[in-house]
Amino acid sequence: MEIKLFNTMSRKKELFKPIKKNKVGFYGCGPTVYNFAHIGNLRKYIFDDLLNRMFRYNNYEAVYVMNVTDVGHLTSDADEGEDKIKKQAEKEKKSAYDIARFYEDAFFKDTEKLNILKPETTCRATEHIDVMINLIKRIEKNGYTYSAGGNLYFDVSKFKDYGKLARLKLDDLKARVDVDKNKKNPADFVLWFTESKFKNQEMMWESKWGRGYPGWHIECSAMSMEYLGEQFDIHTGGIDHIPVHHTNEIAQAEAATGKKPWVRYWMHIEFLTSNEGKMAKSKGEFLTLNGLINKGYDALDYRYLCLNTHYRKPLMFSFEALDSAKNARERLNNKILEIRKNVDFSNASSRDYHEEFHEAINDDLNMPMALAVMWDALNDRELGDKEKYNYVIDFDKVFGLGLEELEEKTVEIPNNIQKLIDERELARKSKDWKKADKIRNDLSKKGYILKDTANGAVVEKSNI
Ligand code: AMP
Ligand code: ZN
Repeated sequence: MEIKLFNTMSRKKELFKPIKKNKVGFYGCGPTVYNFAHIGNLRKYIFDDLLNRMFRYNNYEAVYVMNVTDVGHLTSDADEGEDKIKKQAEKEKKSAYDIARFYEDAFFKDTEKLNILKPETTCRATEHIDVMINLIKRIEKNGYTYSAGGNLYFDVSKFKDYGKLARLKLDDLKARVDVDKNKKNPADFVLWFTESKFKNQEMMWESKWGRGYPGWHIECSAMSMEYLGEQFDIHTGGIDHIPVHHTNEIAQAEAATGKKPWVRYWMHIEFLTSNEGKMAKSKGEFLTLNGLINKGYDALDYRYLCLNTHYRKPLMFSFEALDSAKNARERLNNKILEIRKNVDFSNASSRDYHEEFHEAINDDLNMPMALAVMWDALNDRELGDKEKYNYVIDFDKVFGLGLEELEEKTVEIPNNIQKLIDERELARKSKDWKKADKIRNDLSKKGYILKDTANGAVVEKSNI
């Protein structure tokens, strides 16, 4: 079945044509590891995971490469401000490497809880300095660089299509706030910093331009090509990366290789927002996955919430929205546990849910539609439980909600609750319905739901 993806470069949904048949290589800009990821960042990695799983569902051999930025990202995506990792290291009185490894580890713990498949390759910037230096040398050799004030800059006026991804015009870029007097054009950016930028910089390497460290953008051009080749299929990021980071990545890569287009399809996810606008680490207060878990949510409740909004639409976060995702997931889990017991019941339906689901995910990752198809299947009165179960387990290869591994919930019942249950059983036996109902109501207020079955009462825990 054909796959359509919205390409930021053309601003259109396009038919996906891989460079190599049945293979797809994609690169996702990874975390800058100076703090915990906020749930907005994690929306981006859930999106990468859905893309990855969608290709696998289509029997593609998918290679997903993600970088870990552990050096060089300044507080502005352009060249202004402080080094994010250095700043945090000073705050926590640790070394820059300790900070980077600690937050990288925390990041991967989050992605594991969210059922995000591990990329084929994760690559740290600090372990690819030689790859970056070699790429900068190629850019330099092709005449796109100049040195000023100890730094090596990329001269955007030499690169014909600069800004094509963001549809920027060089004249408009003059408006970019800029304090670096070394730059010939406001949009020029640093390829290599020397110690002229910060005092006491811990992470530095020798290079022909002096002892220093790479600008942020070069790592993604260099590492993506290292693992995916000089031209590859897809590159992803948040929409904030369009005007600066990805614009500069394209300029670097194409200036070095002369091959166009460097990347065939550019995919960008819209922001997770809150009442205060875009969720951002720089705002100080932000929500982490562990923060949600500590409030009693499951990481997969957040994954479900993300599935419910198309990736090209902003997702306004609220606890009410998370509560409904949690309830929906709980209903789904209960339904799966129920139909799993009835897999002997088989009956076809007139609707081909498999086809409908496949069309939805291949249509630019229309996950809200795919979820709707799944619920329609589950609520279809014609359809046998066996078919329902098989559909949902198949769809979950993409949703990633862990449905096949669901375990029956065993409810731990405290002594005082068990006493009430026994009392009610006695009341029922002596046909004292009034008393039995009262106890059942009391139990429900305490969060225990009693369901009467032929084999006696069964207890479930509710969400109060
Ligand atoms: P960072 O760790 O700051 O480099 O960001 C990691 C990824 O999260 C990038 O691809 C950003 O574009 C993305 N991102 C940052 N803030 C948000 C947000 N509020 N919603 C969705 N994605 C975001
Ligand atoms: Zn990047």
